[in-house]
Amino acid sequence: MNYMLKQCNIVFDSLENGTLVVDEECVVWSWNKWLEINTGIEAESIIEKNLELFYPEVDYKGLQRKIRTTLRLNTPTFYDASLSNRFIQIPRHKITSSLLSFMQLQVTIAPYIPAEKKVMISIHDISDLHELKMTLQQRMKEIALLNSELQQDKQIINANLMIVKTDSGCEIVDATEAFCDFFGYTKGELIGGSLSRFYALDAGSDDFEQMKEVLRNKHRWSGEVEIITKNNDCVWMDTVISPFVDEYGEIISYTAIYHDITDKKRIEMLSVTDPLTKLFNRQKFDDVCRGMLMRRHWTKEYTFGLIIIDVDYFKKVNDTYGHQAGDSVLIEVSDILSQTVRTGDVLARWGGEEFVVLTPDVDSGKVLYAAEKLRRAIEMLEIPAVGKVTASFGVTVFVEGDTQESMLHRSDQALYRAKEKGRNRVESIFS
Ligand code: GH3
Ligand code: MG
Ligand code: MG
Repeated sequence: MNYMLKQCNIVFDSLENGTLVVDEECVVWSWNKWLEINTGIEAESIIEKNLELFYPEVDYKGLQRKIRTTLRLNTPTFYDASLSNRFIQIPRHKITSSLLSFMQLQVTIAPYIPAEKKVMISIHDISDLHELKMTLQQRMKEIALLNSELQQDKQIINANLMIVKTDSGCEIVDATEAFCDFFGYTKGELIGGSLSRFYALDAGSDDFEQMKEVLRNKHRWSGEVEIITKNNDCVWMDTVISPFVDEYGEIISYTAIYHDITDKKRIEMLSVTDPLTKLFNRQKFDDVCRGMLMRRHWTKEYTFGLIIIDVDYFKKVNDTYGHQAGDSVLIEVSDILSQTVRTGDVLARWGGEEFVVLTPDVDSGKVLYAAEKLRRAIEMLEIPAVGKVTASFGVTVFVEGDTQESMLHRSDQALYRAKEKGRNRVESIFS
């Protein structure tokens, strides 16, 4: 081996890739350290031998053709080793995944000593790159699959779930077909409009303000709201509104999801409504009264009142004008009571011609004033075909240790007193 070749071999040994020198018959003239390590074949045993002795399966015709072309053109050429049997198979020592057990090789053939028809073959292990490409392809397939599933889900959601998206100012930016169909609007009619215009809630009402407060604090709000459709039907919706925030914590949009509960709400309303007067019934009164009794913060100045109202000489109305006229009196009295009580007061029909009012956040003076206001309102009524009616009032307020029975007993006693003292008057027993 001449000096030049020896020097070259030293350089080849230092390379981080496989380097071998072969002639056009595929006899090996140089076999570097990398190849020794990765193939397990010592340079000594392979040099001056034909590569075919060690790797009989290689497509030598193809390789020789490539070597000849390289020599003829006197320029390096790329040799596609990716097909099986095109080049020597080198097992992978560090297998990073189960995808490849042999190295994926990139092979370049360069003229070495053209006079001796020798070429230098460089082998680069591109397995990692190849694996990465395969993993990437696999991921792309998975993403495509996910995407199509997502599209399907989107279609199902669009057709079946009532969802509205708004910007941070509650201006509608999108709505599902299900929402548009249910409310009778086209998407075009909805987009750009304010979400709150559909709500039957008054803009300044407590419920509306409470909802706004929750959302402003970037929390999810859920509750039952009444919404007006394009045909002006009122429907009840179980609603969840979620704010979405950006990376700076600023609200960028809201998503409102609706579920129609109109039927449930109707049944609920029926179960607590008196059919004749449309006031709450005794059942609802009991529920509210129990709730108020459970609140522990009542004081003398800040308590709740109970008013019992009984129409005077009602039997006579029935006897004189008939039962139907009697019914119309009950309806008229109920209407005027509804209009006169404060928001927050709970008015119910106790039964017959008797009504009850629960007035929270009052003292005894205020509840007396409220009862007097109601008494006067009834007195002022002019009922068609019947004329005037009056009612007597029994009033009490909650005191420590009270139960519903004890409160009812006191106001009933007060009512009795009002009747005794001539009717059309308010009497009270406070303790
Ligand atoms: P007082 O001034 O002492 O309260 O006399 P009153 O006649 O109002 O009292 P009473 O309890 O004797 O009569 C109540 C009447 O109310 C008897 C009942 O027939 C009538 N009544 C009860 N429920 C209804 C109803 O739903 N419709 C009608 N029209 N009458 C009813
Ligand atoms: Mg009565
Ligand atoms: Mg009566």
